[in-house]
Amino acid sequence: MAQTKILLDESEIPTHWYNVVADMPNPPAAVLGPDGKPITPDALAAIFPMSLIGQEVSAERWIEIPEQVREIYQMWRPSPMFRAHRLEQALGTPAKIYYKYEGVSPAGSHKPNSAIAQAYYNKEAGIKRLVTETGAGQWGSSLALAGQMFGMQVRVYMVKVSYEQKPFRRSMMQTWGAEVFASPTNMTNAGRGVLEKDPNNPGSLGIAISEAVEEAASRADTNYALGSVLNHVILHQTVIGLEAKKQFEKVGDYPDMIFAPCGGGSNFGGAAFPFLADKAAGKNVRLVAVEPSSCPTLTRGHYAYDFGDSVGMTPLLKMYTLGHDFMPPSIHAGGLRYHGDNALVSQLYNEGIIEAVAVPQVATFEAGVQFARAEGIIPAPESCHAIRACIDEALQCKASGEAKTLFFNLSGHGHFDMASYDKYFAGELEDYAYPEEAIRQALDHLPKVG
Ligand SMILES: *Cc1c(COP(=O)(O)O)cnc(C)c1O
Repeated sequence: MAQTKILLDESEIPTHWYNVVADMPNPPAAVLGPDGKPITPDALAAIFPMSLIGQEVSAERWIEIPEQVREIYQMWRPSPMFRAHRLEQALGTPAKIYYKYEGVSPAGSHKPNSAIAQAYYNKEAGIKRLVTETGAGQWGSSLALAGQMFGMQVRVYMVKVSYEQKPFRRSMMQTWGAEVFASPTNMTNAGRGVLEKDPNNPGSLGIAISEAVEEAASRADTNYALGSVLNHVILHQTVIGLEAKKQFEKVGDYPDMIFAPCGGGSNFGGAAFPFLADKAAGKNVRLVAVEPSSCPTLTRGHYAYDFGDSVGMTPLLKMYTLGHDFMPPSIHAGGLRYHGDNALVSQLYNEGIIEAVAVPQVATFEAGVQFARAEGIIPAPESCHAIRACIDEALQCKASGEAKTLFFNLSGHGHFDMASYDKYFAGELEDYAYPEEAIRQALDHLPKVG
């Protein structure tokens, strides 16, 4: 029987995270303050511990994973890699398809890989409470779990529409002991300001970020935690790619192409960057970030300095952006709706070292359903984007007769997203390409620097 699951022993959990900065041809672009000058690390010290700020700007290739973090990783790591024999058969492709399954974490996605690390470093710095925002609830539930593991309080500002429409992610957070509030709240200046103008405001990620950052900045015992976009988050996610490399070694194979869904870039960077080290050493491997056509940050955005939040409170990051005031259309992959992208992912894309494709919504669900019917696992809508791009490549292999080795990151399961699948089955989903006019207009709203 051909091998299906490629498993590692707990002793093979990586001991170090991999920092791609060490293998980049050029140093990362500076992070700028409101005055257009590079910021100093202590500008971030009101909301992040120094250890994480150090990781944010580190150029060291390997950063040790604390033992307590590895012990918690043992609850679900190493995550399995699968050879998708049944999907290959269904497609009739000569390509070999492998995927890494991050849905085995308690929260059901890759996000706890960073939530656990962030809670650890904050606890070590004497912080008692963590605050964050969440849209669809995947990051909020991951941080709630992490807070529970380290005996820390977690408060989540959850976008009001999601709070009302996705009650089960909220119940998960509460089960793990977190406080969850529908944002905008009347507990912060940012929230009160919004409610004064419109008591029925449905909330947005931008408003929820402002509430969380305001609270973290105003309390000495409280810090802020972000689920993607920042370099330290990508760093923590490299356990995915490091394990995958060992798993490929076990079966004597190596990927020609790697696909991962890309929202803020953390699971893409986590899965792909450890392979970029080999690419830098001369190996031929293509790394492809997959985004929705409705939020085409890398494929159609501007490479420029922009704010990380919609209100304009954060430092300026050089990244591909659709503009910080980008109004995301209501596509169902909530985790891919961010206006920007991680700065390292952006720079590597700008330098032609990594690639990106955008895929339309209906085709992603079609791919997700085809995958579920062959492989059993029901993928998160975000993960379906990577599956779409991988299946498209496998079908090209079928046409050309090439037997490429393809690998994608199955970033999470879709058990809390069945309402979106229902809409797909009912034929209620539509493709939406972000209008060119809106992309042009975003340029006018970018902060002016240099
Ligand atoms: C949040 C999320 C994503 C997108 O976020 P990244 O930081 O780009 O990885 C993708 N898949 C799942 C399942 C998610 O929860």
